[in-house]
Amino acid sequence: MSKSVPAIEVRNVAKSFAEFRAIDNVSLTVESGIFITLLGPSGCGKSTLLRSIAGFLTPDSGSIMVGGRDVTALPPHIRPVNMVFQDYALFPHMSVRRNVGFGCEMKGMTRLEIEARVDAMLELIRLPDVGSREPSALSGGQRQRVALARALAPDPVSLLLDEPLGALDLKLRLELQHELKSIQRTTGKTFVFVTHDQDEAMSMSDLVAVMKDGRIEQLDTPRAVYARPATAFVAGFVGAANMLPARVSGNDGAVLNLEVEGQNWAVPADCVTGGRTVATGDVVTLVIRPEDVIVGSGPGFGELALPARAHEQTFLGGRIHLRCQTANGTALTLEVRPGSVPEGDGTLDLYIAREAVAVLVERKETVK
Ligand code: ATP
Repeated sequence: MSKSVPAIEVRNVAKSFAEFRAIDNVSLTVESGIFITLLGPSGCGKSTLLRSIAGFLTPDSGSIMVGGRDVTALPPHIRPVNMVFQDYALFPHMSVRRNVGFGCEMKGMTRLEIEARVDAMLELIRLPDVGSREPSALSGGQRQRVALARALAPDPVSLLLDEPLGALDLKLRLELQHELKSIQRTTGKTFVFVTHDQDEAMSMSDLVAVMKDGRIEQLDTPRAVYARPATAFVAGFVGAANMLPARVSGNDGAVLNLEVEGQNWAVPADCVTGGRTVATGDVVTLVIRPEDVIVGSGPGFGELALPARAHEQTFLGGRIHLRCQTANGTALTLEVRPGSVPEGDGTLDLYIAREAVAVLVERKETVK
């Protein structure tokens, strides 16, 4: 497919169940060949969106294009997409080979073509020797690999994966995350992956769409979603976040002057997230990740110095979570290396680099 045609386009799709709006006018363009993840808490509408793309649900309004073709009115088996489910959904009494070749049979491929395709898919999932077994003779991880091979075999435009690793234990899950990503790279297929696990989303995806209440709150790279969250919800969902209230005291487009914890602090104006603009008097929230709060190294150029009282340490092996409170009473959580702070309670000099801050504008609330 030409690079210029997006693999999937969701245009203003809405879907309600009775009075409940599960998808609220979502638009999303997925370029060909990327790994995109729909990430969000339970009930935010991830599966409803994925099932609408697959054709298992019909949107109340809006349209869905796959490979440049409007598929909104097409049933699932005609759409050039395939789904992989958490519970494998393999045919239990068919051999692995027949399972993998099933979609190719449905497409009317010749026996020889199907055999060659099945061989290639079993190689791809690194299980060339299990073709004659039935799914019950496979481990959970092997079954999910076979389900992946079956979904890829008919060469769909896109694979839609609904929490495919959810039933696996952590070790296997991490192994298969790596393998899924590698298969996506090898095949160059567009993967749309659903999970509520932020680590999984961050580690595998080219793009993450963070969802809440049937909407996409932010669509960005994993790094951007983490370092430049567009909303407080995104900041809190993709990792631990310290939130400091602040007020804008000046903005010349390059430097943003802030009043925070009774101090003036100048940060780069592009720290403002979500494509928002801010002006003098605006109330904003500063997001600072726990690992970006530095203990006691002395102020570097432009750093915010924040004396704080440590009142709880949690030892986590290779790192320590430290809870502190600033002079203004704001709670801060830090992540530090063991031995880098004195044990017990006490006063600490904390510093925050100006590049480490994301400036959120949740509401347009102006204090003059
Ligand atoms: P999870 O991670 O728990 O699967 P999700 O983000 O995938 O969550 P959806 O399965 O898309 O969420 O569901 C979104 C909302 O729509 C939920 O509140 C759910 O209860 C509701 N819902 C989904 N399918 C139906 C249905 N067939 N009938 C009624 N309500 C539904």
